[in-house]
Amino acid sequence: MASLYVHIPFCEHKCIYCDFYSIESLDPLESFLTALRKEIAMYAEYSTKETIETIFFGGGTPSLLSPAIIAEILDLCHRTFSVRRDAEITLETNPGTVDRDILAGFRAAGVNRLSFGVQSFHEDDLRFLTRIHSAGQAKENIRNAQKVGFDNISLDLIFALPNQTLARWKENLQQAIVLDTQHISAYSLIVEHGTPLARMVRSKQVSVLPLDTEAELYEFTMACMRDEGFEHYEVSNYAKPGFRSRHNSNYWNHTNYIGFGPSAHSFWMNRRWWNIRSIESYCEKILAGEFPLAGEEHLTSGQYLDEAIMLGLRGEGIHLDRLNARHGIDLVASDQSTIDNLISECLLVHDPPFLRLTDKGYLLCDEISKVLLAHLSVPA
Ligand code: SF4
Repeated sequence: MASLYVHIPFCEHKCIYCDFYSIESLDPLESFLTALRKEIAMYAEYSTKETIETIFFGGGTPSLLSPAIIAEILDLCHRTFSVRRDAEITLETNPGTVDRDILAGFRAAGVNRLSFGVQSFHEDDLRFLTRIHSAGQAKENIRNAQKVGFDNISLDLIFALPNQTLARWKENLQQAIVLDTQHISAYSLIVEHGTPLARMVRSKQVSVLPLDTEAELYEFTMACMRDEGFEHYEVSNYAKPGFRSRHNSNYWNHTNYIGFGPSAHSFWMNRRWWNIRSIESYCEKILAGEFPLAGEEHLTSGQYLDEAIMLGLRGEGIHLDRLNARHGIDLVASDQSTIDNLISECLLVHDPPFLRLTDKGYLLCDEISKVLLAHLSVPA
């Protein structure tokens, strides 16, 4: 099984913290769509290799496109690839770009999962983040989506905003829970290099939240989500049983995927490649009949193994049997004393077939990955 990703590189306004590739104008929409159709056709040879289990429209702001355009792109995917009848088809949705009719149109087009970029239910947070929507619009459109039949909805929130208190973050989580969505992603604010936010931090216009406060908010989130019946299945992702993102889980399990559009990444077997970011260069390359690649790498077996361990730890845990079958390594035996130490410090639990992080471990996820990888003895 494999996945498809379609990057829609348009936003109404660029948020101060965002480093995803998008432009603030829809002027090149027609040339983008022409190039996208061609690019999808260029990968037709992959159609016989695996069936498609998930399709994900990300960006940018895919919900800026009309339902008719989304339907056309989906139709092309169905005609080019062998897409499963029960495929998960997700559309990232900015609450400021839709209404009930548009949401109904996306549903009729074949989208069966929406991921709403809510980020906060506090108006001053939304203004700080320069989002284009209000908290009221986010609530209204999530309810609209439920009314038109979407029963698999995710919402994104951002925590660790400057000066954020636990009390304010609790209010955000409570408002999210009341909306009764099946999935919640809660990311901490990352100051990405080259963004307006990074410049504001550098000029001391904005101060990042102290690490201990961020950890307090994260610990509260994990406990709160668990109490509300959500499974914590990745560092920042929580799902009601049966509603984990199949698409993102595929990424984290090293499943093959093809990405279309500017800046999109692809992974097939042990090859990873990524498209150029500029929409103009992307369109030019494709019109010239070339793949619009910016780079590629072939993972060595060591890199592949390192990634499997890191991704497993960040996700639902390292599946020890699968790791052994794919990479020929018995992780527990090869790293026994390190793992015993991490277990005795309540950072890891061995819950066969998984080796997974505890809540305390999730707070130190990157450090624990480094410790495990540093002590790993890979068989010759
Ligand atoms: S709407 Fe989303 S993709 Fe667009 S700038 Fe904001 S965060 Fe980035």
